[in-house]
Amino acid sequence: MIDDAVAIIGAGIGGLAAALALSRRGIAVTVYEQAAQLGEIGAGLHLSPNGMKVMRALDLEPALAACAARPRSICTRHYATSEANFEGPLDADFEARFGAPFYSFHRADLHGVLSSATAGQAGIRIVLGRRLETLLIDDQGARLGFADGSSAIHRAVIGADGVHSIVRQHQHGDVSTRFTGHVAYRGMAATAQLPDGFIESKLNVWVGPGKHVVAYPVRRGELINYVAIIEEDGWSDESWTTRADARTLDAAFEAWHDTVRTLVGTTISGECYKWALLGRDPLPSWSGMRSTLLGDAAHPMVPYLAQGAVMAVEDAWVLAACLGAFDDLAEALQRYELARLARTSAVQAAAWEQGQKNHAVGRDKTGDEFRGGSFADPAWIYGHDVVVDFP
Ligand code: FAD
Repeated sequence: MIDDAVAIIGAGIGGLAAALALSRRGIAVTVYEQAAQLGEIGAGLHLSPNGMKVMRALDLEPALAACAARPRSICTRHYATSEANFEGPLDADFEARFGAPFYSFHRADLHGVLSSATAGQAGIRIVLGRRLETLLIDDQGARLGFADGSSAIHRAVIGADGVHSIVRQHQHGDVSTRFTGHVAYRGMAATAQLPDGFIESKLNVWVGPGKHVVAYPVRRGELINYVAIIEEDGWSDESWTTRADARTLDAAFEAWHDTVRTLVGTTISGECYKWALLGRDPLPSWSGMRSTLLGDAAHPMVPYLAQGAVMAVEDAWVLAACLGAFDDLAEALQRYELARLARTSAVQAAAWEQGQKNHAVGRDKTGDEFRGGSFADPAWIYGHDVVVDFP
């Protein structure tokens, strides 16, 4: 028997945001998640104003404000002297300009706010421990086959199953990747373990030859998240859960400013992960007659503009608006794709270019003249408001 609820594969940030947005439009959803428990590993994440506008529309802004940290600016610094060479505001004027704040989160906190909001929400069913393995779509429905042998048939399926999406694979087969040559090491340090006033409440970016480090407070300033991007060969694993040895970073940053060395030396035990940064070209399409994609499944992007999750949240809102507005399922899915494909493709491309810029600008043989990258005016990204465009 066909289940009239829309199936969402994946209870990550995109999948849960979609579940909430759809339920608000009176559309029932079943979310299938492969993990046995809802949760996220330790890493940081920003939501820029374009994402926070969606969170506000989902009534999540107060809960998010209560667990966020709020950087005053983005500041790029010389790797050895820590001298600032670029500073762009993220303050109250910035909020007034873009209509919402810029927040930094521990991923688990952001995910926790989304999952609490789904708990007990009418029209949302979350099924854990279900890894989608097979998908067959025909006139009758979307037939989902799970690793545990169970199955379900739904009228529509949304692939919110991340960078290695099975739903995308069903539509497009394997898509080609290109290695950036960059590997991200992500760790957390407890603020209480660091010297007083150790790091300013900014999004700090130290840029040096072949590496850069991004560090910022999360969880009301109780933790400092860092991402150290290092040019490396021969590592291709994209996984949230591959652990790295933080001691590798001691050697890699030996010649860097004390702040960076102290930070990576204070990593909470076991809280350092390693992720190869792979680029993919935009897909030509996302939707079939009963299926579509959102978030990293649709447009996996390198993290240099911090827009992957934000785009997933924008997708979620627009998808719900289209499914709410059009009775014909295939038309609704096409309208969603039309509204989102060009924007997310442009952000994907801009993120790739930012990564090239971060490591290329000012490089010389010794690194002494190194000045690091800067950021273009983000108005076209942060000023976008899907809530106004899709009321
Ligand atoms: P995911 O978060 O990957 O969630 C997918 C879910 O699907 C998971 O729960 C997974 O278990 C589940 N799943 C997968 N396969 C199956 C299956 N077969 N069956 C059932 N369930 C399945 N973005 C920002 O906006 N701001 C940032 O500051 C930022 N920083 C980043 C830093 C780094 C180092 C990296 C690597 C990324 C960063 N991103 C950032 C990107 C962001 O993390 C992703 O874009 C975002 O997590 C995508 O969300 P998603 O819901 O699409 O996918």
